Amino acid sequence: MVTGDSSYIKKINRSLILRKIIEHGFISRADLSKITGLNKATVSVQVADLLHEELIYETQVEHHSIGRRPIMISINEDAGYVLGVDLDYKSINYTISNLKGKSVYECNEKIETEDYQSIMKTIIGKIKEYQLNFSDRPYGVVNAVIGIHGTVNKQDGSIRFNPRYKWVQKNIKEELQKELSLPIFVENNANLSAYAEKVYKHHHSNNLLTIILTSGIGSGMIIDGDLQKGFHGYAGEMGHMIIFPNGDPCRCGNHGCWELYASEPSLLKKLETELQQTNLTIPDIENLLKTDHIIVKSFIDRYLQYVSIGLNNIINLYNPETIVINSRLLKIYPGAVEKLRGNLISSVSEYGEIVLSDLGNHSCVLGACALGIQHFLDVDNIRISLPEAQVLKEESPV
Ligand SMILES: [Zn+2]
Repeated sequence: MVTGDSSYIKKINRSLILRKIIEHGFISRADLSKITGLNKATVSVQVADLLHEELIYETQVEHHSIGRRPIMISINEDAGYVLGVDLDYKSINYTISNLKGKSVYECNEKIETEDYQSIMKTIIGKIKEYQLNFSDRPYGVVNAVIGIHGTVNKQDGSIRFNPRYKWVQKNIKEELQKELSLPIFVENNANLSAYAEKVYKHHHSNNLLTIILTSGIGSGMIIDGDLQKGFHGYAGEMGHMIIFPNGDPCRCGNHGCWELYASEPSLLKKLETELQQTNLTIPDIENLLKTDHIIVKSFIDRYLQYVSIGLNNIINLYNPETIVINSRLLKIYPGAVEKLRGNLISSVSEYGEIVLSDLGNHSCVLGACALGIQHFLDVDNIRISLPEAQVLKEESPV
């Protein structure tokens, strides 16, 4: 039996009530009491506190049936903002979202340098600017969540290694917090993407894996409802599972790693050699596919086999309910998911579903905003509907 002092129980009740208000959008006190199992007096006291803090508001929602319209409560999305930052290679996406997860501002900044200190200076400058420009609400910018395309230590939020920038051991969280009077959270980009898939799209799935097939391979895992990060926080480096003994040499020191065969650049490079072209892009491939290009199709089918080998291994490890593949290439190849399913023929591999991501390259920053809301409201899990998130249109792929 779980016991605790009254302030602890109050905190748990508050979290539960907030979570249900987020989930339902608009809900009456009576329904809150019914859904949470808390008595009406407890709900009333909590709601009064939240109203006082301006975190929720009351409204009378239009009702078609005759009779009194119930007073509904909802999250006050305008109480403050969260800032999601996707620190990608040579570009940084800053997205500001309200407390209902709706993006209200987005900025993509190109960066020329790889120097850590210069980039920190840029980020600090931007965040200070946003703190000032978005200070018109009771809480202003409440926190920032930074997505890192590399390994992040879960204890102290430091970057252990960022392969493309070649940064080793950078205490980014500590440095940003020292400069900014703002709570900062640092998380691996694939973890944020997995989180976004659950929060915005696959609400039902408590065992969800996301596989991001871009310049490398990233993966984020939600097992039994929680993000799985491993002992230090470095779990999910699936791109470096070996699929070919004595295969191509990898930057990690091994040979035959999955990402050498199943990342986007690996396919583009092979096609460039075959077609004797340079700088092939995903839109180029899309155009070639429209002409029913046999060589391109056969190369992508081969590529899908490589993707399937990794998937087969992952499925056997995790028995996932939902596998979300985030890939620009698979999106433009008709029947890609059916082909993957067709390749997964093992009688012992069991999974629920394989789907392509609708969040695309916004998944990291959306996950960052959602995590910011979760931290600020101090709730365990949240659900946000996609129309609320207003996923901005994908930029044209390069
Ligand atoms: Zn490797």
